[in-house]
Amino acid sequence: MQIDTLVLRATRRTLMDDGSWRIPCPCLIHAGDERLRLTVEQRPDGTIVLTCSGGCRPEDVAAALGLTAEEREAAP
Ligand SMILES: [Zn+2]
Repeated sequence: MQIDTLVLRATRRTLMDDGSWRIPCPCLIHAGDERLRLTVEQRPDGTIVLTCSGGCRPEDVAAALGLTAEEREAAP
């Protein structure tokens, strides 16, 4: 999956100066919380890096986004 596809699914999104995106974290513990907690970056090798400021594990965020482990860890 490309990062654009992923962030366009989000209800809100902001592009940061460093090229990363911020979107609301899809994990259930943030249900109803539209703050842009999740940083989404795509490295040159295609790896999608997910960082939630609320402390969610990347694998949980990936699952909530519908990303497989392969998509999270490797280029398509
Ligand atoms: Zn989270």
